[in-house]
Amino acid sequence: NVADFDVPARPEEFDWSEHFPEFLQEWHDQQQQQQQQQQQEEEGVTQSSGQSSSAAPAVRFVDIGCGFGGLLVKLATIYPDTLMLGMEIRDKVTAYVRERIASLRREHPGSYRNASVLRTNAMKYLPNYFKKGQLTKMFFLFPDPHFKTANHRRRIINTHLLTEYAHLLAPGGWLYTISDVPELGEWMAAKLDSHPLFERVSEEELAADPAAGLLVLSSEEGQKVARNGGETYRNVYRRLAAPRPL
Ligand code: SAM
Repeated sequence: NVADFDVPARPEEFDWSEHFPEFLQEWHDQQQQQQQQQQQEEEGVTQSSGQSSSAAPAVRFVDIGCGFGGLLVKLATIYPDTLMLGMEIRDKVTAYVRERIASLRREHPGSYRNASVLRTNAMKYLPNYFKKGQLTKMFFLFPDPHFKTANHRRRIINTHLLTEYAHLLAPGGWLYTISDVPELGEWMAAKLDSHPLFERVSEEELAADPAAGLLVLSSEEGQKVARNGGETYRNVYRRLAAPRPL
């Protein structure tokens, strides 16, 4: 139900400080320190540090339909300097992940402050939260299969939405998918193969990528599939800088 959550009209309107309070405060403090140092340099008090102010940190990784947040909490410690967000449509599941992250932050001071979760319909509202080229990784782990042909338009990987994901991804950014449903695995690969703004990432590159190794077992759904001895189909693609000829 759309009325259940507020959606910003534009990304600029959204206040991220509630999601990443410590992380953003630390950045703010550093900026202030640098400004003071620059002022002193201009007054000839100290030597130039060569530092200059930078843009505020922004969310770079999103886990779409994050479920119970297993991937997110793994990524948070592997990429401690990257802001990342789980996006989940179910209210109670989102509340669970929020509390999971809050308790991890309490238990491990200084860690997990770069991860957060937001309740939203990711098929509708991603451009309300993120600017063009802002994201560097998008994860789609075990998305709902929507088996019936009449429901294929509800699949979260489709040609129309891939164009939106390409818009939000920085050139060179990666889109990760995994499924235990062979038909859906094939569907996602086919949609990505036929999209001019994506190219398949090679197995060699995947072997060297810490995030790719997490797809099978980090999330709750992945663990369930593994317990049942199920096979998985992983398809990872790179956002190209310019459309490739098809
Ligand atoms: N990625 C998780 C994992 O691997 O454990 C969860 C997989 S579960 C099969 C799919 C998740 O996507 C569910 O938690 C569901 O609520 C969420 N979801 C489905 N449609 C969504 C949408 N439009 N926006 C955000 N989340 C959605």
